[in-house]
Amino acid sequence: MIKPKLIQQFIVEPGSDVNLKKYVTDWTETEEAQELGKDAIKERAAEILAESRKQLDAAQELLYASDTHSVLLIFQAMDAAGKDGTIRHVMSGVNPQGCQVFSFKKPSAEELDHNFLWRYMKALPERGRIGIFNRSYYEDVLVVKVHPEWLGPGQPAKPDGKFWQQRYEDINNFEKHLARNGTLVLKFFLHLSKGEQKKRFLERLNNPEKHWKFSGADMAEREHWKDYQKAFEEALGATSTKRAPWYVIPADRKYVARALVADIVVTAIQDLKLEFPKVSEETMTRLDVARVQLEGKSNEGKPEA
Ligand code: AMP
Ligand code: MG
Repeated sequence: MIKPKLIQQFIVEPGSDVNLKKYVTDWTETEEAQELGKDAIKERAAEILAESRKQLDAAQELLYASDTHSVLLIFQAMDAAGKDGTIRHVMSGVNPQGCQVFSFKKPSAEELDHNFLWRYMKALPERGRIGIFNRSYYEDVLVVKVHPEWLGPGQPAKPDGKFWQQRYEDINNFEKHLARNGTLVLKFFLHLSKGEQKKRFLERLNNPEKHWKFSGADMAEREHWKDYQKAFEEALGATSTKRAPWYVIPADRKYVARALVADIVVTAIQDLKLEFPKVSEETMTRLDVARVQLEGKSNEGKPEA
């Protein structure tokens, strides 16, 4: 497990004035990392990821058995920050029946005709499950803040500050509702540097097996880098809460991002202190009877001679 003190630096203080430049994108360049040594960090990150995967599978089983809570993990980032890879690596050990991933693309005409939370509400995880949103209702205060013309019919052509404040408020109220109903919400912003994005785009362009990952739209959005960073800063500050915190995860090194996310998720679920349900005395008696019956008839079930 990673020390909570180390994790603390990645949590967005509720209501704070977020300046993303103050959050590292490459944690291995920090002093505390240098002290540990780069190779040691890579090894340690792999160990943490492996440990967390095992613990996450056990935690999910308990989540299902206790049937009191669900978990919602939200991933937001600039393109090529590694959302898909992080989700794949962190969740790879979990029982597929215990988790579900939804990736949200541009909304359809039908979705745009509803309130902006509608399509996400339908995808929420039921009790006992871990739900993952690869992009989420946060797009509705991010991409459309950079491109208000994509807000859809019935929305203001030039939304003002009040419009966005109301959306943050709606999101906070929505997450309060989720928390009150037993959903643990954890939000991850994979914080990538512009230089690392360039490197990853070039990899996609230079490797035929990665061409499919590159979209012309990605280049166009890169041009709006500053506007996106600003939209993220405002959204993170306005919607990080104790009950549903934002984590700014340094994403320039994939192994760092994956280990951090895995550790944070496992720790948060373990902190719920869930327990396997205790059966009643009556059921215990029935279990005892069944055990005696099965043990007493040891010849039963054997193939006939
Ligand atoms: P990708 O995840 O790379 O397949 O891209 C999905 C695209 O859908 C991204 O460009 C997102 O910005 C866009 N998108 C997702 N949600 C919304 C939304 N609520 N409004 C507008 N665009 C969205
Ligand atoms: Mg994309």
